[in-house]
Amino acid sequence: MQYYSLNRQSPPVDFKEAAIHGQAPDKGLYFPEHIPVFDSSFFHNIEKMSNEEIAYQVIQPYVGNSIPEKILRKIISETINFPIPLAKLNEKIYSLELFYGPTLAFKDVGARFMSRCLGYFAKERNEKLVVLVATSGDTGGAVANGFYEVKGVDVVILYPSAKVSMVQEKQLTTLGKNIHALEVNGNFDDCQQLVKQAFADKEVKQKIFLTSANSINIARWLPQQFYYFFAYRQWPDKKHPPVISVPSGNFGNLCAAVLSHASGLPVQHFIAACNVNDVVPEFLKTGDYHPKKTIATISNAMDVGDPNNFIRILEIFEEDISELKRILSAFSITDDETRATIKKVYRQYHYVLDPHGAVGYLSLERFLKKNPGLKGIFVETAHPVKFYDVVEPVIEEKIPLPPAVQGIMDKYKVATKMDVDYNSLKKFLLKL
Ligand SMILES: *Cc1c(COP(=O)(O)O)cnc(C)c1O
Repeated sequence: MQYYSLNRQSPPVDFKEAAIHGQAPDKGLYFPEHIPVFDSSFFHNIEKMSNEEIAYQVIQPYVGNSIPEKILRKIISETINFPIPLAKLNEKIYSLELFYGPTLAFKDVGARFMSRCLGYFAKERNEKLVVLVATSGDTGGAVANGFYEVKGVDVVILYPSAKVSMVQEKQLTTLGKNIHALEVNGNFDDCQQLVKQAFADKEVKQKIFLTSANSINIARWLPQQFYYFFAYRQWPDKKHPPVISVPSGNFGNLCAAVLSHASGLPVQHFIAACNVNDVVPEFLKTGDYHPKKTIATISNAMDVGDPNNFIRILEIFEEDISELKRILSAFSITDDETRATIKKVYRQYHYVLDPHGAVGYLSLERFLKKNPGLKGIFVETAHPVKFYDVVEPVIEEKIPLPPAVQGIMDKYKVATKMDVDYNSLKKFLLKL
């Protein structure tokens, strides 16, 4: 499989080159030259297949010759070594629970797959890779955990001091070994600015092989399709495919869902579930795409004013907006509505939503109200304990800490403090 740049000013590359570099030289996102299509027997037999086998069939055409079969199968089994269940709330609504990974959010699958691919490529190249990433919270933990003890790869994570949650900070700073946490005396934008400077620094790039781990990387984006095949495998009414509601920020996850449908996965309709950062809902309403300043909300992993991956969704539909609107609806949900939904669902079903899942739930409920014959799935993208400060006051209960987090809270934080000063970062990188 070859990947072309959506800016169309760089030559196509294979999976390996696209994964190592993240972005094309012309700064475009990589996109596969063709989308593989499964025949109907694959879906007929899906209940008999293991998750590992399904994942292998889904991702192999995209990886092509870049990774041998035996190694790719090992990478997959390490990537999805936790449950991904579909939980029933009522006759019409199911929750796809993507929070059983080590950092309790769906980003674990993409980060684990990507880290193992890069680890394999680094071994092949005999050269140390340095992954540099700025985080506002969730991405850093998933990336740190994914790359932990991966040989030949060092990870440097910049996070804004005192602006991530306690759980998130522990996930970044307690691993050690090849994971280096830099606690920056500034905000997320400062962190991102420092990272950009490093990528633009010729001297640094000459001395170390620097790469990024953000969500536009195909090795993080493509494996997110697994969830939707696993969901369909568990869907009880195969004659009536589900509506799927995806809480969206940068639109990587929804784009992977739409891609799996383009490969033949039966889905009735998709919903882009957004908070008040409503660029995409506005676009579907008016036809105008206007990036906006980010608004802070309680579903903060979706606070994105200019979603990176939406352009890939347009590419899947070859820019045919009316076709896109036939399959995709969008909703914008306020913080008050999000809290009310968490409360209502807890009362009604004794089910604890996190704020992102609540946006997904309410969007689905609104769509089903207008389309009473249908049934659907909302994606629960994080464990509610990650956002206990929002959720606990609403449900008026304590959320028990899952075992994965209990251990981490007792560990010591190790982080290098740094001012917003590029020379300090440069010194740190060159000493690795
Ligand atoms: C990152 C994230 C999202 C948004 O996913 P995108 O792929 O960026 O649209 C939603 N919920 C949670 C909990 C996240 O961490």
